[in-house]
Parts: sequence; C-alpha cells; structure tokens
Amino acid sequence: MSVRLVGRSSPPNWAEVADRCFQRRYSTLDVTVGVVLGSTGAMVIDTLGSRREAERLRLDLRRLGVRREPRWVVNTHAHFDHCFGNSVFSPRDGVWGHASLPDELAGTDREALAAQFPEWAEDIRADPIAPPDRLVAASAAIDLGDRVVKLHHLGRGHTGGDLVVTVPDARCVYAGDLVEAAGPPAYGADSFPLEWPTTVMQLLNLSFDVLVPGHGEAVDRDFAVRQAGELALVALRIREYHAAGLPAREAAATGAWPYPREVVATAVRRGYAHLDDTPHGTADRCDR
Ligand SMILES: [Zn+2]
Repeated sequence: MSVRLVGRSSPPNWAEVADRCFQRRYSTLDVTVGVVLGSTGAMVIDTLGSRREAERLRLDLRRLGVRREPRWVVNTHAHFDHCFGNSVFSPRDGVWGHASLPDELAGTDREALAAQFPEWAEDIRADPIAPPDRLVAASAAIDLGDRVVKLHHLGRGHTGGDLVVTVPDARCVYAGDLVEAAGPPAYGADSFPLEWPTTVMQLLNLSFDVLVPGHGEAVDRDFAVRQAGELALVALRIREYHAAGLPAREAAATGAWPYPREVVATAVRRGYAHLDDTPHGTADRCDR
C-alpha cells in the first residue's frame, strides 16, 4: 500500500481512458479504481479501503450510469486500500482475485494496520474483510457480453498476489500497484523487489496502449517501460551491494538509486533477505 497524498484536493471524476474503460482517483491514498463496461454488466476493479469509502464508490458508479449491482469485482491485490470495501458489493458473478488473497487477508494484522493508518483505524478494526470467491492462479477470461476481459498473475512484485486486468479490444491494462504513477513504486514488507522487474516485463509483453495504475493517472506504455527500467536498476543494485557485503542500511544510503532512500530501504532489506534465503519476515530482523 502506498502512503501519500492524504488530504489532496478532490481528484477529477471518472475518466474514460479507453473504450468503455474508466478510472477514478480517490483522494484517500490516491487509489485509482477502474470500471470496465460490457453489454451484460459492469466490472469494478478494486473497492477502496473501507465500507464507508466503498459506499461512496457505489454512488459514484451511479454517476457513471452503473445503476445495477456490478456483475464482477476484481481485486488487484490484498492491500486494504484496494479490497477492504469488498463487503459492500454482491456481484452476481463473483469477486475475483489471486489465489493467495484469502490466506493473505485472513492473516491481516488489523492492529498493526490500524497503527500504521490511524485515520482509518476504526474502519480497519470494524469492517468485515470479504475475500474473493473466484480465485485465479495464473489467468482467467471473463465474458462481459460484447467483450472479453482477461486476468493475469504474471509473477510476484508489489505483493505475492498481484493480478493484472486486460481489456484487449481497448488495448487497456489495469496494473494495480505493479506500476505506480502517483509516486515511486511502493516496496512494502510483503514485496518481492528482485522479482518485480521480471513481472513488469511480462506485463510489457501484453498488448496495450493505456495502463491504469493502482495509484495515479493512466499512463502510456513508455511510462511503464521507464518504470520497469527503474525497478530493474533497484534489483541490480541490491544484488551488487549484497554481493559486495555492504550492510543493507548503508546500501540504502548510497544514493545510487532511482528513488529516494526511504523508498528503497525496505526494498533493500527484502532483497537481502531473499538473497540470504531468510524468512521474509520483519525488515528489522533482516537488516544487516
Ligand atoms: Zn498496494
């Protein structure tokens, strides 16, 4: 999840970024929600971080002309700001997510999350967590009537269960937090910084012109290519510094990164832990 832009002025309304492919940015954590319209219903991509916010999303869907219940909901990953609003929706054809999401969500440490995001602590503690009921291990195709939407798990990166939504006829991709446009990629304690570049390269193998990120405005392919390069540089530096025996804290402080130190600190710790083949546990324990 990303911590940024809280209190930002109201973002613009729904934007049609490709044929019947919409995005809407929400000021809370600057999450970007997607909607794909088909002849038999609407697909909502991510549900925001609480029931309260999801109720607002429901109203916003009406403004988009979606008056009936969305027929499909997709979660791009298990972070609360993308899926804790699930319980507000009852999609006839299910809530879709990567196969790891039920376990990941069941293992959510709500108290730790509430401490990390005090503005939403009350909701985080109280809201029911509704995991996806349609699980995707590698890929799936969903028929929206006059178009087919595809879901892909392309590998680990931002989390272990990132799901990408593609709308081939519109050459549009919803990438979740695998690509971020509102700020640098978010390397959290559940990220896989050494595998992330390969996953985004897989994403670049898909046919698309427009990419909707998990946070921020839609971007083009060139943006994703640049970010893939930055992600690859982070992974390369982690491997170099680890091989040289540089402690993680010092490695993060070298300034040889495409992102600020505070962004890469967790990436370095996670990368070192993976290279050491230590448990993917707390950053502190893996620091060296
Ligand atoms: Zn996230």
